[in-house]
Amino acid sequence: DDFGRATGCVVGGAERHGQVLVSVDDSTVICQIPRGRRAPNLEPIVGDMVNILWTSAAADAEAVVEEVLPRKSTLIRRHGTAAKPQVLCANLDLAILVLSIEPNFSEGMVDRVLISAHAQELDVVLVLNKADLVPKGSPARRDVERRLSVYERIGYKVLFVSALEGQGVEDLRALLCGRTSILVGNSGVGKSHLLNRLGQGEIAVTVGNISEKLKLGRHVTTTTTLHRLPGGGDPAYLIDSPGARRFSIWDVRPEELKEHFVEFIPYASGCKFSDCRHLEEPKCKVKEAVEEGYIPRERYVSYKRIHHLLLEGSEGARVTE
Ligand code: GDP
Ligand code: ZN
Repeated sequence: DDFGRATGCVVGGAERHGQVLVSVDDSTVICQIPRGRRAPNLEPIVGDMVNILWTSAAADAEAVVEEVLPRKSTLIRRHGTAAKPQVLCANLDLAILVLSIEPNFSEGMVDRVLISAHAQELDVVLVLNKADLVPKGSPARRDVERRLSVYERIGYKVLFVSALEGQGVEDLRALLCGRTSILVGNSGVGKSHLLNRLGQGEIAVTVGNISEKLKLGRHVTTTTTLHRLPGGGDPAYLIDSPGARRFSIWDVRPEELKEHFVEFIPYASGCKFSDCRHLEEPKCKVKEAVEEGYIPRERYVSYKRIHHLLLEGSEGARVTE
């Protein structure tokens, strides 16, 4: 017997169990993924919008997934050059790159995340967490402000926050309104604390519910989950994905790399050669812009280094950790 249909959003999954948890209005529904039909439009992942059907035929679930609606975007991770890429989540708008000075971040990692996100058409905001460790006006604060101003200059938004003390968290929350975002960054920078702070304590409960409902047990900690953040206005969705914390730039070919250094683009059209790589070529407007101080030199040096790593197919092209 069938008991009606609805459209909802996948908030958690247990692929091995063939089940996903779907949020419909204010409730979550355990849904069966139909087996046997290998159609790619029936492999829902976290972030997907799906049509579901309540039915008594759904075995130990409450409903079945009938259709996965077209995706706006997908976040992909590759484990190595040969491995099949893994789709981590769907319909993302924004990556929140969480950084800290303890552990310290590296500009090389930031650049690789920016490339990877740009290649997947994701916006990025840079969040320096643990701002409480660098009081305003202190030499350490000025140093980190200087390092991050490089990214502000080329158009990225930079926020200083403290998940521990709460400063800047409301500014971050305002940025997330009406979008689906994902937390990325090395371990120890405070992503879990930030998620809890943004969720005002409700997130931990939801994660518990997902693992309980899908009988995931402790495996839930390695599973991607989606959370609706509390607060008025347009809803904000936040994805927490342990796998996505290590996305890499293997899909970017060396000759494409220059497209992902966004500040090069206005100058590149003036280069003598239309396929200029901005390396040894004469009459290169990008190199001129570096010399004249319009493009941060650190970024140009980073471009040359990553270009070299990609040519070698080196492990160094991995994004984080
Ligand atoms: P994750 O690995 O990125 O999820 O990081 P966690 O959220 O587990 O945090 C790692 C460590 O950083 C913990 O010991 C936290 O107490 C600490 N931490 C997180 N946020 C802050 C913060 O805003 N300020 C300070 N001082 N410590 C923080
Ligand atoms: Zn050039």
